[in-house]
Amino acid sequence: MPEIRQSMATKEWVIIATERAKRPKDFISKKNSEASIPESDAKCPFCPGNEKLAPPATFEIMDGENWITRVVPNKFPALSPEGERKRKYDGIHRYMTGVGNHEVIIESRLHNRFISVMKKDEVLNIVKAYKNRYTELAKDERIEHIIIFKNHGAAAGTSLIHPHSQVVALPLVPQAIRSRLNTAMRYLDDNGTCVFCDMSVMEQKEKERIVYENDDFIAFCPYASLGPFHIWILPKRHMAQFSEINEPEMTSLADSLKIVLTKLSIGLNNPDYNLVVKCNPTDYIKSDFFHWYIAIVPRLTKTAGFELGTGMFINVSLPEENAEFLRSINI
Ligand SMILES: [Zn+2]
Ligand SMILES: [Zn+2]
Repeated sequence: MPEIRQSMATKEWVIIATERAKRPKDFISKKNSEASIPESDAKCPFCPGNEKLAPPATFEIMDGENWITRVVPNKFPALSPEGERKRKYDGIHRYMTGVGNHEVIIESRLHNRFISVMKKDEVLNIVKAYKNRYTELAKDERIEHIIIFKNHGAAAGTSLIHPHSQVVALPLVPQAIRSRLNTAMRYLDDNGTCVFCDMSVMEQKEKERIVYENDDFIAFCPYASLGPFHIWILPKRHMAQFSEINEPEMTSLADSLKIVLTKLSIGLNNPDYNLVVKCNPTDYIKSDFFHWYIAIVPRLTKTAGFELGTGMFINVSLPEENAEFLRSINI
């Protein structure tokens, strides 16, 4: 009998198709290995030597004369940094001016230096860039919500191989985020605690869905994972905003990202994935009901009509088996 599980954090239901569940090894990607990608590409706008192709950097970490992590405004931004945030009404239609920010975080000088092959110090530079950009962009009063994300591989929607993340600062709070906030607020009303803190305690106790754990973070395949090998990296300390992360926690986060992404890369042969830092809206500085986390979503299955029609997912794998598989991979 298939099982329909509900996420305690989002209240979303997911069908865990136990009877047609695939084994973890069935998800190993068959594409070419990372070794076939060169260290540099003269045509790549993010490779050293092509800095002039992008607007001037908004943040850089240097090693002597050379940048090693670099943030630039997106050349083709989804939103414009100039102008006023205005809501407009036209009969029954309402719209807003498309103000905001859209930046690219170039994670390495090397065209083929994925997080899975980086040293922890290199990953720490990415975390530092994430924190700097979140903190700086949140100061803009027109901004209400910031998301940081990464698309790795064609199935995850990237068009450029060079390792990079993106940050988008929005002049509004998206509807899906509002819905999550409301769910978390209701949980606090009912239980007096933060649902994410409770999840962290429960997963540490049950242990079977844990992928990796250090002093400050727990990485696990959530009980109601929407698909194979979905992973959350959750801070153990209650932190409303990503910008609250302190120095030791930044090192711990770099460690968690490195280990989890390396396990995924070794175990499933460098699968395509999306990574998203899920945050509170920028004004929710002292929120006691929602705390930030990172979601990693490998692109191993395709969504289709059922998902489109219901907003529900069918997961053809067991989160407990996925976690056990990743735990067993030694780095
Ligand atoms: Zn490049
Ligand atoms: Zn919490």
